[in-house]
Amino acid sequence: MKILESLKESRSLLLLTHVRPDGDAIGSALALGRALTLMGKHVRLYNESPIPAIFRFLPGIEQIVSDPGNLSAYDTAVVLDCSDLSRVGSLADEVGRIPTLLNIDHHMTNTGFGCHRLVDSSASSTGELVYRLLTDLDADIDEGMAYAIYTAIFTDTGSFLFQNTTPEAYFICGRMVEMGVDSYKVAQTLFATYSLGRLKLLNMVLDTIEISGNGKLSVMYLTQEMLRETETSVDDINGLVNYAKHIEDVQVAVLIQESRPLSGDSPKPHYHVSLRSNGPVDVGTIAAAYGGGGHPGAAAFTSFTSLKDIKKEVLRISDAL
Ligand code: 5GP
Ligand code: MN
Ligand code: MN
Repeated sequence: MKILESLKESRSLLLLTHVRPDGDAIGSALALGRALTLMGKHVRLYNESPIPAIFRFLPGIEQIVSDPGNLSAYDTAVVLDCSDLSRVGSLADEVGRIPTLLNIDHHMTNTGFGCHRLVDSSASSTGELVYRLLTDLDADIDEGMAYAIYTAIFTDTGSFLFQNTTPEAYFICGRMVEMGVDSYKVAQTLFATYSLGRLKLLNMVLDTIEISGNGKLSVMYLTQEMLRETETSVDDINGLVNYAKHIEDVQVAVLIQESRPLSGDSPKPHYHVSLRSNGPVDVGTIAAAYGGGGHPGAAAFTSFTSLKDIKKEVLRISDAL
């Protein structure tokens, strides 16, 4: 496999993941980064956005930094969990000029960028692909890497609830537990410990639910004002969209989130629109039609129009359901 040879030959690597990183982005970067470091390579882990506080328990998390260093010093860039190169944020063009660009991802909408690719949309997560690579590289998986891989798979499968929960996902997570991962601790940290503010925020967001005329689509929104009022941050938004997915008859749940311009993100105020499917509807294709992307069950896009217009547009999606 060309990607394996590239990794073996590389000496100085920059590992990148998508803006607003999730557990899969963070876990796969940490696991691969540690393995490459143990192979004697010079490795830097970079992300443009802040790392959500809930992932602070992961060993080595402080190694993911927002300073990419001197980009001309790297022979290889590894882009993880990104359907297209622009998902890494403002550095995309410069990263595209690093001599060897590797693309490791599981998004159905992956554009096929890079010199060599490991792209498999049947994989539960990028963490699963990193596990396969580490196995092929004969890397010893230590407890820190095991936590990273477990977290990647556990979060991207929604704690083994989503349709991408494959036998492979269970198998790898089982092995990670054998290697020392405390699965109860991870579950408690990621899915069972919330600030009071987050619950108040959930309350406010749920209050905004509207259901389309045919009952098949739910739409909610979240504003910066709500974050201020509940003293919460973007860290607390994770997972809120799923609540409206569980409503009877709803097939597609939408959360429109007012986003503050991130550095390097678009300087204009904008909305991040998250879509979740509760069945046969492929929301990845819907998001791609609006310039975004994702998976059949979870996808998103960015919009620069008004909240009112986005709501109208989103409710129009329900006509085709
Ligand atoms: P979320 O709604 O949690 O932000 O994102 C859901 C899924 O869509 C994730 O797999 C994420 O990587 C992908 N995604 C989110 N935003 C974008 C985007 O702007 N462009 C693309 N291509 N994918 C996105
Ligand atoms: Mn991701
Ligand atoms: Mn992923």
